[in-house]
Amino acid sequence: MNRTLLVTGGSRGIGAATALRAAARGWDVAVNYTRDAAAAEAVAAGVRAQGRRALVLQADVADEAQVLAMFAALDAGLGPLTGLVNNAGIVDVAARIDGGSVARWQRMFAVNVIGSMLCAREAVRRMSTRHGGAGGGIVNLSSAAARIGAAGQYVDYAAAKGAIDVFTLGLAREVATEGIRVNAVRPGIIETDIHASGGEPDRAARLAPLVPMQRAGSADEVAAAIVWLLSDESAYTTASVLDVTGGR
Ligand code: NAP
Repeated sequence: MNRTLLVTGGSRGIGAATALRAAARGWDVAVNYTRDAAAAEAVAAGVRAQGRRALVLQADVADEAQVLAMFAALDAGLGPLTGLVNNAGIVDVAARIDGGSVARWQRMFAVNVIGSMLCAREAVRRMSTRHGGAGGGIVNLSSAAARIGAAGQYVDYAAAKGAIDVFTLGLAREVATEGIRVNAVRPGIIETDIHASGGEPDRAARLAPLVPMQRAGSADEVAAAIVWLLSDESAYTTASVLDVTGGR
């Protein structure tokens, strides 16, 4: 089967590691990003260096018009989609609920939840056998925060990731007979720039002692789980949420 993958937020962190790992396993990869075109281009170059095709696509996953344009460009540039990794995600600075704002919560859900639903909708329209597609796989990025709640840090983020867990379960069952498997990965504390964007660049090192394995994880360790869930090796796995947390 043709293997064409879209990784949202593929310009750095877990998304970049996933794009590179997927290329090594034979996927052509579309690398989505919002701000850092040079970083996305560098990931695309890494995909091409492994003999696969790559496309760089700028789009805010929370913006419907941009997402529709992105999928149209993907159709034209790489051909039929068979995999989606809903990886684009944001946190915010630490804030209790009594210090929160509607604007913050709306953005948190717009990117982390609606963005994933929007990209999943476009992927299902292309991959489902019900629509003449050849099937495929969807992997959503949840977070251990969905289990832990992230009290005092970002319960809004945790709630959004909880929504991703339920969305994964429901969508998986909705398309189970249509050639599409849907799963989620719940990373724990992973060394990426996301902690700096939440105002705490040293967060992974600070929290490492709380992890049973006594260390933060790497983006590539999460990517390995994602690429396995996309592969035929997980052929009977759907509606699953896989913790990649070092035991946390
Ligand atoms: P990261 O290093 O902050 O990278 C985020 C990526 O998403 C970047 O490529 C960024 O592109 C892109 N992005 C941000 N907002 C976007 C939007 N609205 N539309 C499209 N792309 C957007 O994040 P990460 O740590 O790799 O996290 C990836 C996923 O794993 C997220 O869903 C996150 O919630 C989840 N996760 C991470 C951890 C962790 O400890 N790192 C733990 C649990 C779950 P630009 O740079 O171009 O803006």
